[in-house]
Amino acid sequence: MPLVFNIQKFSVHDGPGIRTTLFFKGCPIRCLWCHNPESQCYEVENIETKEGKVEVVGKDYTVNELVKEVEKDIIFYEQSGGGVTLSGGEVMTQDMDYVAPLVKKIQSKGISVAVDTCGVAPFENFERILPYVDYFLYDLKFINSQLHKEYTGVGNELVLDNLKKLSEHGATIHLRLILLEGLNTSDEVIEETVAWLKMNNISVSIINLLPYHEFGFDKYKRLGRKDPQLFQAPSEERQEQIKQLLENHQYKVKIGG
Ligand code: SF4
Repeated sequence: MPLVFNIQKFSVHDGPGIRTTLFFKGCPIRCLWCHNPESQCYEVENIETKEGKVEVVGKDYTVNELVKEVEKDIIFYEQSGGGVTLSGGEVMTQDMDYVAPLVKKIQSKGISVAVDTCGVAPFENFERILPYVDYFLYDLKFINSQLHKEYTGVGNELVLDNLKKLSEHGATIHLRLILLEGLNTSDEVIEETVAWLKMNNISVSIINLLPYHEFGFDKYKRLGRKDPQLFQAPSEERQEQIKQLLENHQYKVKIGG
């Protein structure tokens, strides 16, 4: 059964409105800036709390238990246009015999469902949940496959292929671009990304620009891992320029999730 390592209530960064985000444990890639290192491994782990105690990360819930949990805040979803987001780790690499009934059941309660994904999963998995997902928060880290491999451990071919297929299937896509200064923030990279989106007729509802940040980096030490590599976020001025550049191509753009 998939493990959940966090149920975040009243989240405002994982899609529109007020949301409950379910964080599933396990990810097939290793982004060097990952701010949820406890999400990467598929097994239960121990983490040292800030107070020096040992805490177990990863708990299994039945589908019904999770549905019950997210239902508690239905009034907030309704008032804010929010819902539930499945995140991770990478939820699309979990057992789909669990994930598909979960999203189906949540949606049957009239709750909007979003899936946050890095795109590194078989497309059959996406197909299983397509009818029950209102939108995908789809991360595109690098348009250049070489860089994608260097900084996440895998090339971007599957990521781009799944993005294309999701768009062809009419999925609502919120494209999320993580911004790492000096690596993917130049005009050339942004234009290259836009050119690829246009060439492949990718229909994007909104582009979210996610500047690099270091929240959660203390968790590496508390998991007994070595410190992560540090990057830099572009300046606020540069973030605005990137936003403008994308808006010039008629995309709706927001800085932040
Ligand atoms: S895809 Fe997300 S969870 Fe997986 S390593 Fe990258 S940042 Fe971490």
